[in-house]
Amino acid sequence: MIEKYEKIIGEDELYGLVKIAEKLKDFSILHVNSTRAGGGVAEILNRMVPLMRDLGLNVDWKVIRGDTEFFRVTKSFHNSLQNGYGELPPNAFETYEKWQEINANEIPLDYDIIMIHDPQPLGLIKFRKKGKWIFRCHIDISNPYAPVWEFLKKKIENYDSMIISTPAFARDDISIPQFIIPPSIDPLSIKNQPIPEITVKRILYKYGIDTERPLVVQISRFDYAKDPIGVIKSFKLAKEHIDGLQLAYVGSPATDDPEGEEVYEKTVKEAGDDKDIHLLMLPPYSDLEINAFQTGASVVLQKSIKEGFGLTVSEAMWKKKVVIGGRTGGIPLQIIHGITGYLVDNVEGAAHYIIHTLKNPEISKKIGENAHKHVKNNFLITRHMREYMSVMLYVIG
Ligand code: UDP
Repeated sequence: MIEKYEKIIGEDELYGLVKIAEKLKDFSILHVNSTRAGGGVAEILNRMVPLMRDLGLNVDWKVIRGDTEFFRVTKSFHNSLQNGYGELPPNAFETYEKWQEINANEIPLDYDIIMIHDPQPLGLIKFRKKGKWIFRCHIDISNPYAPVWEFLKKKIENYDSMIISTPAFARDDISIPQFIIPPSIDPLSIKNQPIPEITVKRILYKYGIDTERPLVVQISRFDYAKDPIGVIKSFKLAKEHIDGLQLAYVGSPATDDPEGEEVYEKTVKEAGDDKDIHLLMLPPYSDLEINAFQTGASVVLQKSIKEGFGLTVSEAMWKKKVVIGGRTGGIPLQIIHGITGYLVDNVEGAAHYIIHTLKNPEISKKIGENAHKHVKNNFLITRHMREYMSVMLYVIG
C-alpha cells in the first residue's frame, strides 16, 4: 500500500518514512477521537491508521462515546474556544468529567504513546496508566473563551506535548512543547483520486445538477463556522452576473455535532425557492460523490468564519480548482491570495471572486495548477505521518 505513494512523493521521501517508522515499531500507539465519520479528524484517521499499520507500526484507533448532553457540552466548548465567547449548558464541566470517566473505564489506555485528538477526549489524561500522551489540537485556540480554556488548559499541562495546525494557534500560556503540524489529504483515497468525467457527470446529474452550466460548490458540515448562510448570499450576488450559475452545498452529519440539523434548517430558509441552490445532506462515507462535486465544480468555496485547517480546501486544490476561502485559521496556509486561490473576508468578496474566476479562465487555470503543486509540496498524508512520527519519537525520548 505505502509503496504506491512513491510515484507521487518520490523514492527518497518514501525511504525516509520507512526508516522513521522502523524506530517506532516496538511501541504501541493509540489514537483517540470522538467520531468515526464526519469531519476532518475522522477523515484523516480513516486513512492514516491503515497506512501507519502498513508501515509496520502497532497502531489502534478508539472513539469515545457520549450521550446528546455530552456532545452538546463538547460542541459548546468547541464553539466557545473558536469564537472567544460562549454559552455553556448547565453543569457542563460535570457532564464532561462524567463521560471522561466512563470512557476511561471502557477504552484500554495501556499504550506506549497515546494521541488524543481535540478537546472531546482531552480529559482522559486523568486516567493515564502509562506511556507518553500527545494532545493533537485541530481547532483554532488563538482567542478562546477564558472559562473553557482555563478548564482545558489544566488538562493540557499534564500532556507530554501538544500539536497545533498553524503558528497562528500557538499559545504562550502553555508550558509543554508545542509542535506545528498542518493536516493533510490522501492523494490515493477515493475522495482524491482522479475520476472519469463520465462518473462526475453521472453523479452530478443524479443530484439534479445541470452539467452544462457553471457550478459553485462548498463541501462542509452544516455548521455556523462554515458560514452556510454567507455561502448562499455570495452565490445570490454572483448569480446576478453569471448566467445559469448553480450552487451545491454538500454536507453530511457527524455524530459529535448535534447542531447540524438546526443549521441545515436555517440554510434551507435562506435559500428560499431558488431552484439553482442544491442543499444536499449525503450519508457518511460518500467519498466518490464528494470527489465528483469537487471535480465537477467550476469554482469551490470554503467561506468559513472559523476553521482549524479546512481539509476541503486542499482536497479541491489537489483537483486543480480555484478555491475561495475565508481568511481564517488554517486556510491561509493553503491559499496564497491571488496565487493558489483567493482569500476573502465577507460575502461581497466571495461573490467578487466567484465572478472573477468564472470570467477569467486563463488565470483560473494557472491558479488551479499552482494550487495542485502547493498541496503536493505541503499537504499530503505522507508528510503528515512523518511529522507525527517525529513527535512520537521526541516524546518517548
Ligand atoms: N466531508 C464529507 N462529506 C460531507 C462534508 C464533508 O466527506 O458531506 C469531508 C470533507 O471532504 C473533508 C472533511 O469531511 O474531508 C471535513 O474536514 P474539514 O477539515 O474541511 O472540516 P471539519 O468538518 O473537520 O471542520
